[in-house]
Amino acid sequence: MKMKEMKTIHEPAKEIPVRDEVDVLVVGGGPAGLMAAQAAALEKGTRVMLIESRGSLGGNMTQGLPLLGFLGRKGNEIIKGLPLRFVERLRERGQATHHRACPLHVSLTMIDPEGTKRLAWEIMEECGVKVLMYVFCVDTIMDGDEVKGVIIESKKGREAILAKVVVDCSGDGDVAFRAGAPMAYGNENGIAQPPTLMFSMRGVDSRKLRDAVADHPDIYDIDFIPNEFFRADDNCTMVGFRNQIRQAREQGFNLPVERTIFMTGMAPDEWWVNMSRVNGIDSTDPEQYTRGEEICIRQNAEIVRYLKTFIPGFENAYMDRVAPFMGIRESRRIVGEYVLTEDDIFNCARFDDAIGVASYPVDLHHPVGGDCTLMWCPDCYDIPYRSLVPQKVDGLICAGRNISATHLALASVRVMGPAMCLGEAAGKAAALCALSGVQPRELDVRKLQDSLRAEGVYFRD
Ligand SMILES: Cc1cc2nc3c(=O)[nH]c(=O)nc-3n(C[C@H](O)[C@H](O)[C@H](O)COP(=O)(O)OP(=O)(O)OC[C@H]3O[C@@H](n4cnc5c(N)ncnc54)[C@H](O)[C@@H]3O)c2cc1C
Repeated sequence: MKMKEMKTIHEPAKEIPVRDEVDVLVVGGGPAGLMAAQAAALEKGTRVMLIESRGSLGGNMTQGLPLLGFLGRKGNEIIKGLPLRFVERLRERGQATHHRACPLHVSLTMIDPEGTKRLAWEIMEECGVKVLMYVFCVDTIMDGDEVKGVIIESKKGREAILAKVVVDCSGDGDVAFRAGAPMAYGNENGIAQPPTLMFSMRGVDSRKLRDAVADHPDIYDIDFIPNEFFRADDNCTMVGFRNQIRQAREQGFNLPVERTIFMTGMAPDEWWVNMSRVNGIDSTDPEQYTRGEEICIRQNAEIVRYLKTFIPGFENAYMDRVAPFMGIRESRRIVGEYVLTEDDIFNCARFDDAIGVASYPVDLHHPVGGDCTLMWCPDCYDIPYRSLVPQKVDGLICAGRNISATHLALASVRVMGPAMCLGEAAGKAAALCALSGVQPRELDVRKLQDSLRAEGVYFRD
């Protein structure tokens, strides 16, 4: 069938102002971008700028999600360095919990979204990172295959920012994609994990919920974890209640998932709900993103009704906060100098160019259907620097969920602990490259590793 050709117009070339010129430009202020900007700025004499399209810093850290991945399968702390310092500062303010070991998710660290936004600002200010919000990186400035900066758009129109090295922490690989780097998307059929619009419920009788779950495994089925685990008044994510979903569906409830997922918030009566789901959404297409957001809003209304009817303790609860945007689990990722695979994860791979380690399981929200599969790494695996460096394009390093990994490997390394660790490594590498005039793919990785070790990053012996 012949596709209908899209109508186009010709946009004439024009002069645009150069707003700034820096050593390292970080695109995207999520967990990876924040750490990248801080790490780059800690390298003496580096001029660093961070640009962010939204009105707050933190990316998915502002969604009410726990930080996953700080502990390894053996219970040891594997994410240290700047990410750990970030969490410790939140903890000092009562805005983060301890890392609780969890049989399903390995470990959970709850954080306060508003506290996170504030601390992010403070850190950027302390280390002299120039922050510019409400600007969208829409294109790259290229010299052959080398990125020399980016084009941003805002209410001021189009402007340029020149940089010696750009760090792409946009989550969607926006910079790499515009620069013409080879990219991958989703699974073998090009379908990504589905997005979710998180929301919180307050007024939950948490004691009643915990006791009901612990006392009645016959009624409240929980995936994988023994029900007794949830009696303790501690951080947790409850995944299961498949019986309740079945019963609700029999009664005509329209629910998008096979199991219920909610997790503790920072307040005793607060639980965050991770249950809306829209399959087949490409978040890089605004029309699809819009449709997804709208569907999630409708789904969440039904999910509230379900929780109040079927889950003990939720009877008098109410929807409190809704995440500022529909969260994207997966979209574009680079094809880098190395593609991290699920075999690397399951075999606890070691790499000479390791820049950190991760241990979180392959946590796959099925791109089709409403279920989820977890597959664990027996201990932890190295993340190689080469997975941060795109093929073909110079002047660019990537971190966060747009790194070079297979669909399954990304389902592990995408969570926020590793994303922060990758950000720190990418920012440090970018600063070293910018200061010494070396391309990212030519960087002496031992120098980077020494610098990361000095910052307290965890490496295996
Ligand atoms: C629903 C959901 C549940 C999840 N659950 C958990 C969980 O419980 N625990 C966990 O640890 N992880 C969880 N994850 C995964 C994790 O949140 C992400 O993979 C992680 O945040 C990735 O970090 P990042 O910095 O790469 O991207 P993001 O957090 O997405 O940050 C990217 C930032 O870049 C900005 N940006 C994007 N494009 C541009 C542009 N062109 N110009 C300027 N700025 C731009 C965005 O506004 C954003 O602030 C979940 C993800 C989702 C979606």
